[in-house]
Amino acid sequence: MASPSARTPLAEQVEELLAADGPLPIVSAGDPVLRRPAESYDGQLAPELLARFVQALRVTMRTAPGVGLAAVQVGVGLRIAVIEDPAPVPEEVRVARERVPQPFRVLVNPSYEPVGARRAAFFEGCLSVPGWQAVVARHAEVRLRARDEHGRAVDEVFTGWPARIVQHETDHLDGVLYVDRAEPRSLASNEAMAARWTQPTPEAAARALGFELPG
Ligand code: ZN
Repeated sequence: MASPSARTPLAEQVEELLAADGPLPIVSAGDPVLRRPAESYDGQLAPELLARFVQALRVTMRTAPGVGLAAVQVGVGLRIAVIEDPAPVPEEVRVARERVPQPFRVLVNPSYEPVGARRAAFFEGCLSVPGWQAVVARHAEVRLRARDEHGRAVDEVFTGWPARIVQHETDHLDGVLYVDRAEPRSLASNEAMAARWTQPTPEAAARALGFELPG
């Protein structure tokens, strides 16, 4: 725990980022900050600065728009992420992908472990890999352990699309990008996605592009 009077280098960096109003610039793949494990949050930002940083992450995520954003994606190597998914999707997509609305949450020092063996494979994308999507097979259910922005312990099971978001964002804080876990042959540009692969599941894409789905 940093003493409140000492401004840490991370605090300096965050103050500098927050000096400009509006959404923060998102760093993209190729920046080493996305490949280093982030530092556990242990008071490096004083409570008031942490609150402002979390608010800036929220604005940045909503503006992008995205359903999750990790601190490393704005260049800050701290284990903090935000998630939020209003899930404005058609019923058939909601059912196939188990994409239910996820309220705004702050994950501090998150980690997850699988619950059961079920896996689910769907296209996903990342604000730090703009223009592309790929199919990732992930645990369908995970147990998340974290703290919230007030330091309260979180120990919760997530299922379906929210479980995917939790895994994607927590992976970011371990220096892992979704492309590391993706089916390479499923890689599709946003244009190809819009033209061909808007189906609720990636089965047709798997047949046409030649990759395997779990199960
Ligand atoms: Zn991402």
